[in-house]
Amino acid sequence: MRVLIVEDDRDLNRQLASALTDAGYAVDAAFDGEEGYFLGDTEPYDIVILDTGLPKMDGLRVLEQWRRSDRNMPVIILTARDRWSDKVAGMDAGADDYVAKPFHMQELLARVRAQVRRASGHAKSDIECGPLRLDTKAARVTLNGQPVKLTSHEYRLLAYLMHHSERVVSRTELVEHLYEQDFDRDSNTIEVFIGRLRKKIPPEMIRTIRGLGYRLSREGDEN
Ligand code: CA
Repeated sequence: MRVLIVEDDRDLNRQLASALTDAGYAVDAAFDGEEGYFLGDTEPYDIVILDTGLPKMDGLRVLEQWRRSDRNMPVIILTARDRWSDKVAGMDAGADDYVAKPFHMQELLARVRAQVRRASGHAKSDIECGPLRLDTKAARVTLNGQPVKLTSHEYRLLAYLMHHSERVVSRTELVEHLYEQDFDRDSNTIEVFIGRLRKKIPPEMIRTIRGLGYRLSREGDEN
């Protein structure tokens, strides 16, 4: 899952980036409205955290422009504590949720998880696919109740596939949603990670659809 943080307060931006990285997200950071607008307009994010008060371009304008050009990713805005009118304006501009500053990182992370889940059609915090269960809260996967040991990149890949199970996910989509902007995006690495995952979960669950990508499915090959 790839997240964009648009926040001009460098300390807060760094804290957010580190908490989200620890939670298994690929993180891009922008420090003003123009840069944030550009990234959100050109890169596919699973979730955006957007400060409302930004230099160069106001956060609400950034959001309105994204929505006007049909950029529909979930957006959580950060607002000043006492500015209730900011929250109303933000929701009206197309925000999916808001968090008022100062906030507890755990609360923000829970809201991020909820939005990412909702956007992929899952209401519960545990996502299941056959014998696999993804605990989005603890960033853990179990197979028939037993923990599956995963590196952080393997986790990112499997978590993305589980959010989007039973549909074909292209290699490009995986590269775009699993790695930060600056990452050396060699899509062959995806194949390597898929190979490693197949050694940790029943291999028939991840089917290669030639020329299209991969599909994680409950039923494995028969599907
Ligand atoms: Ca600010």
